[in-house]
Amino acid sequence: MEPLLGVEACARAAVEAGARLAVGYPGTPATPALEYLLAHAPQEMRVEWAVNEKVAVEIAAGHSWAGQRSFVAMKMSGLNVASDALLSIATSGTRGGLVIYVGDDPGMHYGMVEQDSRLWARLAKLPIVEAGTPQEGLDLTRAAFQVSEQAEIPILVRGTSTTANTLAGVALGEPERLRRPSQVPFDLDRYTKAGAARCLRQHADTLRRLERAGELLATWNREETGNCDLGIVASASAWGYVAEGLDLLPHRPHLLRIAVMNPLPDAAILRVLQRSTRVLVVEEMEPYVEERVRALASTLPRPPRILGKHDGLLPQVGDLDPDLVAPALHTLAGAAPPAPAQVPARPETRGRWAPRQLSFCPGCPHRSTYTALQQAIARAGFSRDEVVVSGDIGCTILGMNPPHDLCRTEVAMGSSIALAQGFAYAGLDRPVVAAIGDSTFFHAGIPALLNASARRVNLTVLVLDNGCAAMTGYQPAPGNFRGEPGSVANALSIEELARAARVRRVRKTLPYFTRRLTRILADALVSPGVNVVIAEAPCVARLPHRTVIPYRVRPERCAGLPECSPSCIEAVGCPAMDLDEATNRVAIDAVRCLGCGLCAAACPEKAIRRDLKARRRVG
Ligand code: SF4
Repeated sequence: MEPLLGVEACARAAVEAGARLAVGYPGTPATPALEYLLAHAPQEMRVEWAVNEKVAVEIAAGHSWAGQRSFVAMKMSGLNVASDALLSIATSGTRGGLVIYVGDDPGMHYGMVEQDSRLWARLAKLPIVEAGTPQEGLDLTRAAFQVSEQAEIPILVRGTSTTANTLAGVALGEPERLRRPSQVPFDLDRYTKAGAARCLRQHADTLRRLERAGELLATWNREETGNCDLGIVASASAWGYVAEGLDLLPHRPHLLRIAVMNPLPDAAILRVLQRSTRVLVVEEMEPYVEERVRALASTLPRPPRILGKHDGLLPQVGDLDPDLVAPALHTLAGAAPPAPAQVPARPETRGRWAPRQLSFCPGCPHRSTYTALQQAIARAGFSRDEVVVSGDIGCTILGMNPPHDLCRTEVAMGSSIALAQGFAYAGLDRPVVAAIGDSTFFHAGIPALLNASARRVNLTVLVLDNGCAAMTGYQPAPGNFRGEPGSVANALSIEELARAARVRRVRKTLPYFTRRLTRILADALVSPGVNVVIAEAPCVARLPHRTVIPYRVRPERCAGLPECSPSCIEAVGCPAMDLDEATNRVAIDAVRCLGCGLCAAACPEKAIRRDLKARRRVG
């Protein structure tokens, strides 16, 4: 037995199934799938991050069509990005097994949109399965490779935050050693979409494949006949909540635990409905199963009463927990119905930490960049409110918080540039800035940049290039692809890409040179057309071993907080700075300070100096 997270167990299945490729884009809660494979995959398996999820799915589909097994991992919003290719790939099917792990996030533990990937599977007519335990995740995902080949259809494996983060001992299996020749058949009817007749045939083929996959996977659903007229239908990922509450019921209900969410097991659902007068449906997010249960119930001469989300017994928003499911079980058993379920309130954070704003790490280059942008706005003769800054996904969005208060939007990967174009088109007579990280730029920012450049929109694209997707765990971006076993990197230059997009003014500098960056940005704000400013410095959390000389405040020179406006703390907002309440003066934690010097530049009294005696090795 090996302790594995649920998401890792699903990734392990790719190794055991003999997949030769794993590819994905970072996004919690799916990130650990590829991280696990990067650390544990055998040499013959290629594991790498792609520029975005659509590209990842396309690479994997090509690999599958050549006859090899492929694994893809992404978060739920990544499936939106991949969907354009995926819906088309679905109608061509697979040759080598193609399994796509999708991390859903009921309850929004990681931010973004609370969306349910089962609905994508229904739209794409693809099988989607989910497991309730890490062991089941491994076994079911491994089986999915087999079924994907037998039914010739890609299969989605849905992990939720809870199942993905569940740690348990898992019995590992022996990896298959597949040695298959690679060959892509010349089959225009299957692999092209040219012509209505061809597309209609592919649509019909997809429906047949989906049905076949449903038959092959059906054994993963579990039925149990009870000894009363109550029934429970639950998804595998929500099953744990039901199992914990079954003792609340006086008798054993008829149970159906569904692991195959598309196609749903209609026959098994009907059996529960025919034996019951009341049926509770338990699942997270959309009433996806419940609606099918209600539809099937309506076909019966004496339909049972269906309980679940539609009557407000269980919430459609947020994740479930035993306290939400227990009242529903009471109601099923005929006890007095509790008040309708509410959106579960997040528990109050209690602990040892003082409340504080989300902020950049000490020494983060982005703090310097946004400080320079603030100063550039003033230098160009505007107030902060007059310049619209659109933000993007990742660390860069922290620029919406004090002390910067700059970014106004966060929509989707790469959206900042096109949003800024929209703002400019709306006729704003003030500068518009799109702030975007390097990974996000490569993911989805490039098409928007091409568009803005071709239209000669007046806007400034500020690329905060730290060489990685820091917020999801420092995975490399294409400007810095390396470190994956067997990978050959050809690092791309954002500067060259911007010039290739015919952006006339492209400037690049170290963000720690705030005066220079301020000058460049101020110039960009008032220059016509698209301006690209690249603030490039590696993420401080990933810097190799180095010597740091922290800063310290000389108390004799510090004027104290009431005298300074804005004070260094207000201007910089660095977590390494704190207020000495006894003296009202600022103190810097030498252990947390990484010596960027931004605070020293912000102090009008020149009270902040390097502390040579406190130098130390970090990294
Ligand atoms: S800006 Fe300088 S003088 Fe003012 S509180 Fe900070 S360290 Fe003290």
